[in-house]
Amino acid sequence: MGLMERFRRFMSGRYGNDNLNNFLMIVAFVLILVNMFVRQKHPTAGLILSGLIVLLLVLTYLRMFSRKIDRRTRENQKYLEIRNKVFSPWNSKGSRTQAQKAADRAAAKAERAQRAARPRSDAEHRIFRCPACDQRVRVPRGRGKILITCPRCGKEFEKRS
Ligand SMILES: [Zn+2]
Repeated sequence: MGLMERFRRFMSGRYGNDNLNNFLMIVAFVLILVNMFVRQKHPTAGLILSGLIVLLLVLTYLRMFSRKIDRRTRENQKYLEIRNKVFSPWNSKGSRTQAQKAADRAAAKAERAQRAARPRSDAEHRIFRCPACDQRVRVPRGRGKILITCPRCGKEFEKRS
């Protein structure tokens, strides 16, 4: 029997890994790093920290190999509830940026609509710019030389349509 098969059999009916275990292992890992510095200057504190690390790792493995799956699931749910509460300020910040993004999208859409509504030249119309104020003026094509009155500033100018 292979090692993986043996492990699979060993784990059958056992709880396995979860979010809480991942968290406990991260905490243990951070404490191991911290302890590298602490134990040199403060041997007693280092010893206490080492004990805590061992305790955390033992707890993690006990949970992983536990057969009381319901109880472990509830612990994990409790942990997730607490984690969500702790991270809720970040979550609301995230939704604010979501709102900001939505506002940006709405503004971009309004600008596109405005651009689409702007007068364009086509088969039946020509666009001229007022020489005084640069306002775009749309006039019907094929009327020959016409006098255009700018709708913005009232300037009159002649163009061939
Ligand atoms: Zn004008």
